[in-house]
Amino acid sequence: MSPKRKTSKSATYDCVVIGGGPAGATAATLLADYGHRVVVLERERFPRHHIGESLVPQSYWTFKRLGMLPKLKASDFPLKQSVQFVSPSGRDGQPYYFTERDPNEWSITWQVCRDRFDRMMLENAREHGAEVREGVSVKEVLFDDARAVGVRAASGDETLTIHAKVVIDASGASTLLSRQLGIRRPDPGLKNAAIYAYYKGAYRDEGRNSGATLVLHTPDRHGWFWSIPLPDDITSVGVVAPPAYLFTGRGDDPLATFEEEIAQCPGIRRRLEGALRVSQAFVTSDFSYSASQLAGDGWVLIGDAFGFLDPVYSAGVFLALKTGEWAADAVHEAMSAGEVTGARLGAFAPGLLRGMHLIRQLIHAFYDPSFSFREFHKLHPEYRDHIVRILIGDVFNDEAGQVFDVMRQWISLPEPVKLTGSIAQ
Ligand SMILES: Cc1cc2nc3c(=O)[nH]c(=O)nc-3n(C[C@H](O)[C@H](O)[C@H](O)COP(=O)(O)OP(=O)(O)OC[C@H]3O[C@@H](n4cnc5c(N)ncnc54)[C@H](O)[C@@H]3O)c2cc1C
Repeated sequence: MSPKRKTSKSATYDCVVIGGGPAGATAATLLADYGHRVVVLERERFPRHHIGESLVPQSYWTFKRLGMLPKLKASDFPLKQSVQFVSPSGRDGQPYYFTERDPNEWSITWQVCRDRFDRMMLENAREHGAEVREGVSVKEVLFDDARAVGVRAASGDETLTIHAKVVIDASGASTLLSRQLGIRRPDPGLKNAAIYAYYKGAYRDEGRNSGATLVLHTPDRHGWFWSIPLPDDITSVGVVAPPAYLFTGRGDDPLATFEEEIAQCPGIRRRLEGALRVSQAFVTSDFSYSASQLAGDGWVLIGDAFGFLDPVYSAGVFLALKTGEWAADAVHEAMSAGEVTGARLGAFAPGLLRGMHLIRQLIHAFYDPSFSFREFHKLHPEYRDHIVRILIGDVFNDEAGQVFDVMRQWISLPEPVKLTGSIAQ
Protein backbone atom coordinates (compact mmCIF):
# COMPACT_ATOMS: atom_id res chain seq x y z
CA MET A 1 0.00 0.00 0.00
CA SER A 2 1.47 3.39 -0.95
CA PRO A 3 1.72 6.04 1.82
CA LYS A 4 -0.99 8.71 1.90
CA ARG A 5 0.21 11.71 -0.14
CA LYS A 6 -0.15 15.23 1.21
CA THR A 7 -1.88 17.46 -1.28
CA SER A 8 -1.89 21.21 -1.62
CA LYS A 9 -4.44 23.48 -3.26
CA SER A 10 -4.81 27.17 -3.76
CA ALA A 11 -7.74 29.48 -4.45
CA THR A 12 -8.47 33.20 -4.66
CA TYR A 13 -11.33 35.16 -3.06
CA ASP A 14 -12.14 38.81 -2.38
CA CYS A 15 -12.10 38.12 1.32
CA VAL A 16 -11.13 35.28 3.62
CA VAL A 17 -12.60 35.10 7.12
CA ILE A 18 -10.75 33.09 9.77
CA GLY A 19 -13.32 31.55 12.16
CA GLY A 20 -17.07 31.01 11.86
CA GLY A 21 -18.25 32.25 15.28
CA PRO A 22 -20.73 35.16 15.55
CA ALA A 23 -18.15 37.75 14.40
CA GLY A 24 -16.99 35.80 11.35
CA ALA A 25 -20.51 34.70 10.37
CA THR A 26 -21.74 38.32 10.56
CA ALA A 27 -18.93 39.74 8.44
CA ALA A 28 -19.24 36.94 5.86
CA THR A 29 -23.03 37.29 5.56
CA LEU A 30 -22.87 41.02 4.94
CA LEU A 31 -19.93 40.82 2.53
CA ALA A 32 -21.82 38.18 0.54
CA ASP A 33 -24.84 40.53 0.55
CA TYR A 34 -22.59 43.21 -0.96
CA GLY A 35 -21.73 40.73 -3.73
CA HIS A 36 -18.15 39.89 -2.70
CA ARG A 37 -16.67 36.40 -2.99
CA VAL A 38 -16.06 35.44 0.62
CA VAL A 39 -14.91 32.22 2.23
CA VAL A 40 -15.07 31.36 5.94
CA LEU A 41 -12.51 28.87 7.23
CA GLU A 42 -13.65 27.29 10.51
CA ARG A 43 -11.45 24.72 12.21
CA GLU A 44 -14.27 22.94 14.07
CA ARG A 45 -17.31 21.18 12.67
CA PHE A 46 -20.51 22.78 13.94
CA PRO A 47 -22.33 22.37 16.24
CA ARG A 48 -19.52 22.77 18.77
CA HIS A 49 -19.56 23.81 22.43
CA HIS A 50 -18.94 27.49 23.23
CA ILE A 51 -19.39 29.65 26.30
CA GLY A 52 -21.24 33.00 26.05
CA GLU A 53 -24.99 32.36 26.11
CA SER A 54 -26.50 35.62 27.29
CA LEU A 55 -27.12 38.28 24.62
CA VAL A 56 -27.77 42.00 25.03
CA PRO A 57 -30.75 43.74 23.42
CA GLN A 58 -28.86 46.06 21.08
CA SER A 59 -27.80 42.97 19.11
CA TYR A 60 -31.29 43.29 17.61
CA TRP A 61 -30.17 45.71 14.89
CA THR A 62 -27.41 43.47 13.58
CA PHE A 63 -29.76 40.46 13.69
CA LYS A 64 -32.25 42.49 11.67
CA ARG A 65 -29.66 43.28 9.01
CA LEU A 66 -28.55 39.65 8.89
CA GLY A 67 -32.12 38.37 8.48
CA MET A 68 -31.77 36.44 11.74
CA LEU A 69 -34.77 37.85 13.60
CA PRO A 70 -37.39 35.41 12.21
CA LYS A 71 -35.11 32.48 13.07
CA LEU A 72 -34.53 33.69 16.61
CA LYS A 73 -38.22 34.44 17.13
CA ALA A 74 -39.08 30.90 15.99
CA SER A 75 -36.51 29.35 18.36
CA ASP A 76 -37.07 28.03 21.88
CA PHE A 77 -34.36 30.30 23.31
CA PRO A 78 -35.67 31.96 26.52
CA LEU A 79 -36.46 35.66 26.33
CA LYS A 80 -34.15 37.82 28.42
CA GLN A 81 -35.79 40.96 29.73
CA SER A 82 -33.53 41.89 32.63
CA VAL A 83 -30.34 41.47 34.59
CA GLN A 84 -30.47 41.06 38.35
CA PHE A 85 -27.57 41.45 40.75
CA VAL A 86 -27.45 39.62 44.08
CA SER A 87 -25.34 41.11 46.87
CA PRO A 88 -22.59 39.27 48.81
CA SER A 89 -25.07 38.76 51.65
CA GLY A 90 -27.50 37.04 49.24
CA ARG A 91 -29.90 39.97 48.97
CA ASP A 92 -31.65 40.19 45.58
CA GLY A 93 -31.25 43.57 43.92
CA GLN A 94 -33.96 45.37 41.98
CA PRO A 95 -33.73 43.91 38.41
CA TYR A 96 -32.63 46.20 35.60
CA TYR A 97 -35.52 45.77 33.17
CA PHE A 98 -34.51 46.65 29.62
CA THR A 99 -38.00 47.77 28.62
CA GLU A 100 -37.88 50.35 31.44
CA ARG A 101 -36.46 52.92 29.08
CA ASP A 102 -37.84 51.72 25.75
CA PRO A 103 -40.85 49.38 25.76
CA ASN A 104 -40.26 47.82 22.34
CA GLU A 105 -39.35 44.40 20.99
CA TRP A 106 -35.70 45.44 20.54
CA SER A 107 -35.42 45.85 24.31
CA ILE A 108 -35.85 42.11 24.80
CA THR A 109 -33.25 39.59 23.73
CA TRP A 110 -32.43 35.89 23.99
CA GLN A 111 -30.45 33.46 26.11
CA VAL A 112 -28.96 31.12 23.52
CA CYS A 113 -27.37 27.68 23.41
CA ARG A 114 -24.21 28.68 21.61
CA ASP A 115 -23.80 25.38 19.75
CA ARG A 116 -27.19 25.88 18.07
CA PHE A 117 -27.01 29.68 17.81
CA ASP A 118 -23.57 29.67 16.17
CA ARG A 119 -24.70 26.99 13.72
CA MET A 120 -27.77 29.08 12.83
CA MET A 121 -25.54 32.11 12.21
CA LEU A 122 -23.14 30.14 10.02
CA GLU A 123 -25.98 28.50 8.05
CA ASN A 124 -27.40 31.97 7.54
CA ALA A 125 -24.04 33.09 6.09
CA ARG A 126 -24.20 30.14 3.65
CA GLU A 127 -27.77 31.06 2.69
CA HIS A 128 -26.59 34.59 1.90
CA GLY A 129 -23.91 33.26 -0.46
CA ALA A 130 -20.77 32.97 1.66
CA GLU A 131 -18.72 29.81 1.16
CA VAL A 132 -18.15 28.11 4.51
CA ARG A 133 -15.55 25.40 4.97
CA GLU A 134 -15.59 23.60 8.31
CA GLY A 135 -12.73 21.46 9.58
CA VAL A 136 -10.17 23.85 8.08
CA SER A 137 -7.59 25.28 10.47
CA VAL A 138 -5.74 28.43 9.49
CA LYS A 139 -2.05 28.20 10.36
CA GLU A 140 -0.83 31.66 9.42
CA VAL A 141 -1.73 34.85 7.63
CA LEU A 142 0.45 35.42 4.58
CA PHE A 143 2.06 38.82 4.04
CA ASP A 144 3.70 40.53 1.11
CA ASP A 145 5.83 43.13 2.91
CA ALA A 146 3.38 44.67 5.38
CA ARG A 147 0.23 43.81 3.40
CA ALA A 148 -1.82 40.70 4.23
CA VAL A 149 -2.46 38.75 1.04
CA GLY A 150 -4.09 35.52 2.23
CA VAL A 151 -3.76 32.57 4.57
CA ARG A 152 -2.19 29.15 4.77
CA ALA A 153 -4.53 26.53 6.19
CA ALA A 154 -4.79 22.79 6.70
CA SER A 155 -7.64 20.35 6.38
CA GLY A 156 -6.68 16.78 7.17
CA ASP A 157 -3.79 15.98 4.86
CA GLU A 158 -4.50 18.88 2.59
CA THR A 159 -2.66 22.20 2.69
CA LEU A 160 -4.60 25.16 1.39
CA THR A 161 -3.27 28.50 0.27
CA ILE A 162 -6.00 31.09 -0.05
CA HIS A 163 -5.22 34.45 -1.61
CA ALA A 164 -7.54 37.35 -0.85
CA LYS A 165 -7.64 41.13 -1.01
CA VAL A 166 -8.63 41.23 2.65
CA VAL A 167 -8.09 38.83 5.57
CA ILE A 168 -10.61 39.19 8.41
CA ASP A 169 -9.45 37.54 11.61
CA ALA A 170 -12.48 36.30 13.57
CA SER A 171 -10.63 33.46 15.29
CA GLY A 172 -11.93 34.38 18.75
CA ALA A 173 -9.77 33.82 21.80
CA SER A 174 -7.21 32.02 19.62
CA THR A 175 -6.29 35.54 18.43
CA LEU A 176 -4.41 34.03 15.50
CA LEU A 177 -3.23 37.21 13.80
CA SER A 178 -2.57 39.37 16.87
CA ARG A 179 -0.38 36.57 18.23
CA GLN A 180 1.38 36.22 14.87
CA LEU A 181 2.06 39.96 14.83
CA GLY A 182 2.94 40.14 18.54
CA ILE A 183 0.32 42.81 19.24
CA ARG A 184 -1.85 40.93 21.77
CA ARG A 185 -1.74 42.40 25.26
CA PRO A 186 -3.45 41.09 28.41
CA ASP A 187 -5.67 43.43 30.43
CA PRO A 188 -3.80 43.55 33.76
CA GLY A 189 -6.74 45.16 35.59
CA LEU A 190 -9.06 42.26 34.72
CA LYS A 191 -7.24 39.04 35.46
CA ASN A 192 -9.93 36.41 35.95
CA ALA A 193 -10.76 32.78 35.34
CA ALA A 194 -14.04 30.85 35.26
CA ILE A 195 -15.32 27.40 36.12
CA TYR A 196 -18.76 26.54 34.78
CA ALA A 197 -21.22 23.70 34.23
CA TYR A 198 -24.84 23.04 33.22
CA TYR A 199 -27.70 22.04 35.53
CA LYS A 200 -31.19 20.68 34.94
CA GLY A 201 -34.03 21.74 37.20
CA ALA A 202 -32.50 24.82 38.85
CA TYR A 203 -34.93 27.27 40.47
CA ARG A 204 -36.18 30.07 38.22
CA ASP A 205 -38.27 33.10 39.00
CA GLU A 206 -41.56 33.43 37.19
CA GLY A 207 -43.04 35.82 34.64
CA ARG A 208 -40.81 38.44 33.13
CA ASN A 209 -37.99 37.45 35.50
CA SER A 210 -37.88 33.85 34.26
CA GLY A 211 -35.35 34.62 31.52
CA ALA A 212 -33.15 36.96 33.56
CA THR A 213 -29.40 36.71 33.80
CA LEU A 214 -28.41 36.63 37.47
CA VAL A 215 -25.07 37.96 38.67
CA LEU A 216 -24.42 36.84 42.24
CA HIS A 217 -21.49 38.08 44.30
CA THR A 218 -19.78 35.43 46.39
CA PRO A 219 -20.07 36.22 50.14
CA ASP A 220 -16.40 37.25 50.50
CA ARG A 221 -16.50 39.20 47.21
CA HIS A 222 -13.63 37.10 45.84
CA GLY A 223 -15.72 36.59 42.75
CA TRP A 224 -19.23 36.15 41.34
CA PHE A 225 -21.56 33.59 39.80
CA TRP A 226 -23.59 33.83 36.62
CA SER A 227 -26.87 31.97 36.22
CA ILE A 228 -28.33 31.92 32.71
CA PRO A 229 -31.57 30.06 31.89
CA LEU A 230 -31.50 27.98 28.68
CA PRO A 231 -34.10 25.76 26.92
CA ASP A 232 -35.15 22.35 28.32
CA ASP A 233 -34.91 23.55 31.93
CA ILE A 234 -31.11 23.77 31.65
CA THR A 235 -29.24 26.56 33.45
CA SER A 236 -25.69 27.65 32.72
CA VAL A 237 -23.88 28.37 35.99
CA GLY A 238 -20.34 29.67 36.31
CA VAL A 239 -18.08 31.22 38.89
CA VAL A 240 -15.61 33.97 37.93
CA ALA A 241 -12.67 34.94 40.17
CA PRO A 242 -8.93 35.61 39.99
CA PRO A 243 -7.01 32.47 38.92
CA ALA A 244 -4.81 32.71 42.02
CA TYR A 245 -7.95 32.38 44.16
CA LEU A 246 -9.59 29.59 42.13
CA PHE A 247 -6.56 27.44 41.39
CA THR A 248 -3.87 27.96 44.05
CA GLY A 249 -3.77 25.49 46.93
CA ARG A 250 -7.16 23.97 46.04
CA GLY A 251 -6.20 20.65 44.47
CA ASP A 252 -6.42 19.87 40.79
CA ASP A 253 -10.12 19.05 40.46
CA PRO A 254 -11.99 22.12 39.16
CA LEU A 255 -15.34 20.45 39.83
CA ALA A 256 -14.48 20.14 43.53
CA THR A 257 -13.50 23.84 43.64
CA PHE A 258 -16.70 24.77 41.81
CA GLU A 259 -18.87 22.79 44.22
CA GLU A 260 -17.06 24.37 47.20
CA GLU A 261 -17.82 27.82 45.79
CA ILE A 262 -21.48 26.91 45.25
CA ALA A 263 -21.75 25.62 48.81
CA GLN A 264 -20.39 28.93 50.15
CA CYS A 265 -22.71 31.18 48.13
CA PRO A 266 -26.26 31.06 49.53
CA GLY A 267 -27.85 32.78 46.51
CA ILE A 268 -26.66 30.18 44.01
CA ARG A 269 -26.82 27.24 46.45
CA ARG A 270 -30.51 27.91 47.05
CA ARG A 271 -31.23 28.01 43.31
CA LEU A 272 -29.39 24.73 42.65
CA GLU A 273 -31.02 22.72 45.45
CA GLY A 274 -32.55 19.65 43.80
CA ALA A 275 -30.97 20.44 40.42
CA LEU A 276 -28.90 17.86 38.56
CA ARG A 277 -25.52 18.67 37.01
CA VAL A 278 -25.66 17.46 33.40
CA SER A 279 -22.19 18.39 32.13
CA GLN A 280 -18.56 18.27 33.12
CA ALA A 281 -17.03 21.35 34.76
CA PHE A 282 -15.34 23.54 32.14
CA VAL A 283 -12.42 25.87 32.90
CA THR A 284 -11.33 28.99 31.08
CA SER A 285 -8.86 31.68 32.13
CA ASP A 286 -6.92 34.78 31.11
CA PHE A 287 -9.75 35.90 28.86
CA SER A 288 -9.34 39.68 29.16
CA TYR A 289 -6.98 41.13 26.56
CA SER A 290 -6.92 43.28 23.48
CA ALA A 291 -4.78 43.85 20.41
CA SER A 292 -2.87 47.12 20.20
CA GLN A 293 -3.96 47.55 16.58
CA LEU A 294 -7.35 46.90 14.96
CA ALA A 295 -6.37 46.80 11.30
CA GLY A 296 -3.49 47.07 8.86
CA ASP A 297 -3.10 46.92 5.11
CA GLY A 298 -5.21 44.00 3.92
CA TRP A 299 -6.31 42.84 7.39
CA VAL A 300 -8.75 43.64 10.19
CA LEU A 301 -9.54 42.00 13.55
CA ILE A 302 -13.12 41.49 14.77
CA GLY A 303 -14.86 40.07 17.84
CA ASP A 304 -12.67 38.33 20.38
CA ALA A 305 -9.84 38.22 17.83
CA PHE A 306 -9.48 41.94 18.56
CA GLY A 307 -10.21 41.78 22.27
CA PHE A 308 -12.45 40.62 25.08
CA LEU A 309 -13.27 42.65 28.18
CA ASP A 310 -14.97 40.51 30.81
CA PRO A 311 -18.10 38.35 30.95
CA VAL A 312 -20.00 40.26 33.66
CA TYR A 313 -22.27 42.29 31.37
CA SER A 314 -22.54 39.68 28.59
CA ALA A 315 -21.29 42.06 25.91
CA GLY A 316 -18.99 39.63 24.04
CA VAL A 317 -21.36 38.39 21.33
CA PHE A 318 -22.80 41.88 20.89
CA LEU A 319 -19.32 43.30 20.21
CA ALA A 320 -18.60 40.35 17.91
CA LEU A 321 -21.75 41.12 15.90
CA LYS A 322 -21.10 44.85 15.85
CA THR A 323 -17.46 44.59 14.79
CA GLY A 324 -18.44 41.97 12.19
CA GLU A 325 -20.98 44.41 10.79
CA TRP A 326 -18.67 47.43 10.86
CA ALA A 327 -15.80 45.47 9.34
CA ALA A 328 -18.02 44.25 6.47
CA ASP A 329 -18.99 47.85 5.69
CA ALA A 330 -15.37 49.02 5.95
CA VAL A 331 -14.09 46.18 3.75
CA HIS A 332 -16.78 46.88 1.15
CA GLU A 333 -15.95 50.60 1.08
CA ALA A 334 -12.22 49.91 0.92
CA MET A 335 -12.62 47.40 -1.91
CA SER A 336 -14.93 49.75 -3.82
CA ALA A 337 -12.29 52.47 -3.52
CA GLY A 338 -9.57 50.00 -4.54
CA GLU A 339 -7.61 50.86 -1.39
CA VAL A 340 -7.57 48.12 1.24
CA THR A 341 -5.43 50.14 3.63
CA GLY A 342 -5.36 49.82 7.41
CA ALA A 343 -6.85 53.29 7.74
CA ARG A 344 -9.90 52.30 5.69
CA LEU A 345 -10.35 48.81 7.14
CA GLY A 346 -10.06 50.10 10.70
CA ALA A 347 -12.13 53.24 10.17
CA PHE A 348 -14.57 52.10 12.88
CA ALA A 349 -11.87 52.05 15.59
CA PRO A 350 -12.68 55.36 17.32
CA GLY A 351 -16.40 54.51 17.78
CA LEU A 352 -15.61 50.97 18.89
CA LEU A 353 -13.05 52.12 21.46
CA ARG A 354 -15.42 54.74 22.87
CA GLY A 355 -18.18 52.14 23.30
CA MET A 356 -15.84 49.54 24.80
CA HIS A 357 -14.53 52.18 27.18
CA LEU A 358 -18.03 52.71 28.65
CA ILE A 359 -18.41 48.98 29.23
CA ARG A 360 -14.89 48.72 30.68
CA GLN A 361 -15.58 51.51 33.19
CA LEU A 362 -18.78 49.83 34.37
CA ILE A 363 -16.85 46.56 34.72
CA HIS A 364 -14.29 48.28 36.94
CA ALA A 365 -17.09 49.72 39.09
CA PHE A 366 -18.51 46.20 39.50
CA TYR A 367 -15.17 44.79 40.67
CA ASP A 368 -14.34 47.71 42.98
CA PRO A 369 -15.04 46.44 46.53
CA SER A 370 -15.71 49.97 47.74
CA PHE A 371 -18.47 50.59 45.20
CA SER A 372 -22.12 49.66 45.61
CA PHE A 373 -24.62 50.13 42.77
CA ARG A 374 -27.43 50.18 45.37
CA GLU A 375 -25.85 53.06 47.29
CA PHE A 376 -25.07 54.85 44.05
CA HIS A 377 -28.69 54.60 42.84
CA LYS A 378 -29.96 55.82 46.23
CA LEU A 379 -27.95 59.00 45.85
CA HIS A 380 -28.26 59.34 42.06
CA PRO A 381 -31.52 57.77 40.85
CA GLU A 382 -31.30 59.94 37.74
CA TYR A 383 -28.39 57.80 36.48
CA ARG A 384 -30.19 54.44 36.57
CA ASP A 385 -31.22 54.97 32.96
CA HIS A 386 -27.59 55.51 31.91
CA ILE A 387 -26.63 52.19 33.47
CA VAL A 388 -29.53 50.40 31.78
CA ARG A 389 -28.32 51.87 28.48
CA ILE A 390 -24.86 50.40 28.97
CA LEU A 391 -26.34 47.04 30.04
CA ILE A 392 -28.42 46.83 26.86
CA GLY A 393 -25.42 47.74 24.69
CA ASP A 394 -26.49 51.29 23.85
CA VAL A 395 -22.89 52.45 24.17
CA PHE A 396 -22.10 54.05 20.86
CA ASN A 397 -23.30 57.50 21.86
CA ASP A 398 -22.05 60.30 24.11
CA GLU A 399 -24.89 60.41 26.66
CA ALA A 400 -24.67 57.04 28.45
CA GLY A 401 -21.12 57.79 29.58
CA GLN A 402 -22.20 60.83 31.61
CA VAL A 403 -22.78 58.52 34.57
CA PHE A 404 -19.00 58.13 34.90
CA ASP A 405 -18.48 61.85 35.55
CA VAL A 406 -20.33 61.23 38.82
CA MET A 407 -19.00 57.74 39.51
CA ARG A 408 -15.44 59.06 39.19
CA GLN A 409 -16.08 61.02 42.41
CA TRP A 410 -16.56 57.68 44.22
CA ILE A 411 -13.96 55.39 42.69
CA SER A 412 -11.04 55.50 40.29
CA LEU A 413 -11.90 54.36 36.78
CA PRO A 414 -9.61 53.24 33.93
CA GLU A 415 -8.37 55.63 31.27
CA PRO A 416 -9.40 55.06 27.64
CA VAL A 417 -7.33 52.49 25.77
CA LYS A 418 -5.30 53.85 22.87
CA LEU A 419 -4.32 51.85 19.85
CA THR A 420 -0.84 52.01 18.40
CA GLY A 421 0.21 51.15 14.88
CA SER A 422 -0.96 52.59 11.64
CA ILE A 423 -4.31 53.94 12.82
CA ALA A 424 -4.11 57.11 14.84
CA GLN A 425 -6.72 57.45 17.56
C1 LIG B 1 -16.35 32.86 31.01
C2 LIG B 1 -16.97 33.58 29.84
C3 LIG B 1 -18.33 33.83 29.81
C4 LIG B 1 -18.90 34.53 28.73
N1 LIG B 1 -20.23 34.82 28.75
C5 LIG B 1 -20.75 35.55 27.75
C6 LIG B 1 -22.14 35.88 27.72
O1 LIG B 1 -22.91 35.50 28.59
N2 LIG B 1 -22.59 36.62 26.69
C7 LIG B 1 -21.78 37.04 25.68
O2 LIG B 1 -22.24 37.74 24.76
N3 LIG B 1 -20.47 36.72 25.66
C8 LIG B 1 -19.95 35.99 26.66
N4 LIG B 1 -18.64 35.65 26.61
C9 LIG B 1 -17.83 36.08 25.46
C10 LIG B 1 -18.16 35.30 24.18
O3 LIG B 1 -17.91 33.93 24.39
C11 LIG B 1 -17.30 35.83 23.03
O4 LIG B 1 -17.16 37.23 23.14
C12 LIG B 1 -17.87 35.51 21.65
O5 LIG B 1 -18.00 34.12 21.46
C13 LIG B 1 -16.97 36.11 20.57
O6 LIG B 1 -17.38 35.70 19.29
P1 LIG B 1 -16.28 35.56 18.14
O7 LIG B 1 -17.02 35.22 16.89
O8 LIG B 1 -15.39 36.73 18.15
O9 LIG B 1 -15.36 34.33 18.59
P2 LIG B 1 -15.78 32.81 18.80
O10 LIG B 1 -17.21 32.70 19.11
O11 LIG B 1 -14.82 32.23 19.77
O12 LIG B 1 -15.54 32.16 17.37
C14 LIG B 1 -14.24 32.00 16.88
C15 LIG B 1 -14.23 30.79 15.94
O13 LIG B 1 -12.95 30.73 15.29
C16 LIG B 1 -12.57 29.38 15.18
N5 LIG B 1 -11.10 29.36 15.04
C17 LIG B 1 -10.19 29.65 16.00
N6 LIG B 1 -8.95 29.53 15.51
C18 LIG B 1 -9.09 29.16 14.21
C19 LIG B 1 -8.16 28.86 13.19
N7 LIG B 1 -6.82 28.92 13.40
N8 LIG B 1 -8.62 28.49 11.96
C20 LIG B 1 -9.96 28.42 11.74
N9 LIG B 1 -10.90 28.67 12.70
C21 LIG B 1 -10.45 29.05 13.91
C22 LIG B 1 -13.08 28.76 16.45
O14 LIG B 1 -13.25 27.35 16.29
C23 LIG B 1 -14.41 29.49 16.65
O15 LIG B 1 -15.49 28.78 16.10
C24 LIG B 1 -18.06 34.95 27.67
C25 LIG B 1 -16.70 34.66 27.68
C26 LIG B 1 -16.14 33.99 28.75
C27 LIG B 1 -14.66 33.71 28.75
